[in-house]
Amino acid sequence: MSAPSLSDRPVVTRIAPSPTGSMHIGTARTALFNWLYARHTGGKFLLRIEDTDRERSTKDAVQVIFDGLAWLGLEADETPVFQASRADRHVKAVDEMLARGSAYRDYMTPEELEAERTLARAEGRVVRSPWRNLSPNDAPDRPFVVRLKAPIEGETLIDDQVKGRVTFQNKDLDDLILLRTDGTPTYNLAVVVDDHEMGVTHVIRGDDHLNNAARQTLIYEGLGWETPVWAHLPLIHGPDGAKLSKRHGAQAVGEFADMGYLPEAMRNYLAKLGWGHGDDEIFADEQAVAWFDIKDVVGAPARLDWAKLNHLNNHYIRQADVSRLTALVAEIHKSRDWKLREADLPVLERTVPLVRDGAKTTLELADATVFVLRQRPLELPEKAQALLTEETRARLSRLRHVLTETQAWQVAELETQIRAFAESEGVGIGKFGPALRAVLAGGSPAPDLAGALVSLGKHESLGRLDDVLSPAP
Ligand code: GLU
Repeated sequence: MSAPSLSDRPVVTRIAPSPTGSMHIGTARTALFNWLYARHTGGKFLLRIEDTDRERSTKDAVQVIFDGLAWLGLEADETPVFQASRADRHVKAVDEMLARGSAYRDYMTPEELEAERTLARAEGRVVRSPWRNLSPNDAPDRPFVVRLKAPIEGETLIDDQVKGRVTFQNKDLDDLILLRTDGTPTYNLAVVVDDHEMGVTHVIRGDDHLNNAARQTLIYEGLGWETPVWAHLPLIHGPDGAKLSKRHGAQAVGEFADMGYLPEAMRNYLAKLGWGHGDDEIFADEQAVAWFDIKDVVGAPARLDWAKLNHLNNHYIRQADVSRLTALVAEIHKSRDWKLREADLPVLERTVPLVRDGAKTTLELADATVFVLRQRPLELPEKAQALLTEETRARLSRLRHVLTETQAWQVAELETQIRAFAESEGVGIGKFGPALRAVLAGGSPAPDLAGALVSLGKHESLGRLDDVLSPAP
């Protein structure tokens, strides 16, 4: 019995990044779509590190990919495959092709190749080696490359799930090199052999690889293997429609993480880049998994939209677990050289839910919590000093008394007390609120009065008031 055709087998997708030192947001989106499709179909999502460029593929560069995928929550279902370690398999596949007659040894010297190139250019055709048709028995004793014996006539059709049917004329595709003179495998060969042996059923990747799909199809045919389903995703462009680059603000996954975006917001946002489910803007992973189909990916390039990303990130910040956010905020403070004490953590944890509604990123969230970390006595900026007139000081002293008596140190209770106090004074809250805020936060951003008081806690709030009303001599 022959092996079941790819379309009858459980789906296997993969992401195959080359380690370059950073993980591009386009690679992240490709990983996400592969992951979503595998999850949607109950299949597997695999990772292959394409580390054949030994110079660039340092341990650190590989680690960036692992970290990027882990941060995004897109971990592979099996241990990663390292392409460079599979060179023997690649060579063995070429031996099979030589035996099948779908590859040949090409003994052209560099000079002969150059002459053929010039001639081919003049005749408007691709390079063809005479060794395509010469008998191996005539082989000279000199270095050779192994080339694919590609068909010259007819066409190669890529039935792409995103791009539709794309036709390549075989006469335009040269006999591509499979093994170099030093015996090392070339890129297209390695990809085909690895995808086949990893059991990949669906190749979902950037459309910069569409031409490779035609070449790879010919290698599959040369090996007598079934081609996978192809899906080539349009690139991600900047907000201005140009190819995404540094000047658009960020392009690497690590940069988005450092800018304070949450991975779940990135997943939601990236899913919307080129795919969507009606008008739904915000959806959980489970919904994306249930809805995702590669056929629904649109062919036009997607544009990065910071406002949309910020909107989503704010949504997820408002939903996130408070202790997780607190840990993230603490990390940000530490990275900014705030010396955090053990006692600051519960204070931050109390503050985060009171300030997070306005935060578009965790950096903004951290900014909004700085006021609780400041050390007494706070240095008040001039503008704050100006608010502390004699009259206001006297009023704050009376308010201090009310606050001392307040037992339930909670937002609702404190709001009631402050309102009642304003009434008893016969003034609006505007008469003392800004001064109280200045005293509590020292000019740093802070939530409204009750929120600031709860964030700081009773002891610290009264202490900050005392520092201003009855400063230590
Ligand atoms: N290594 C290629 C890249 O990083 C991807 C190859 C593929 O997906 O087939 O662009």
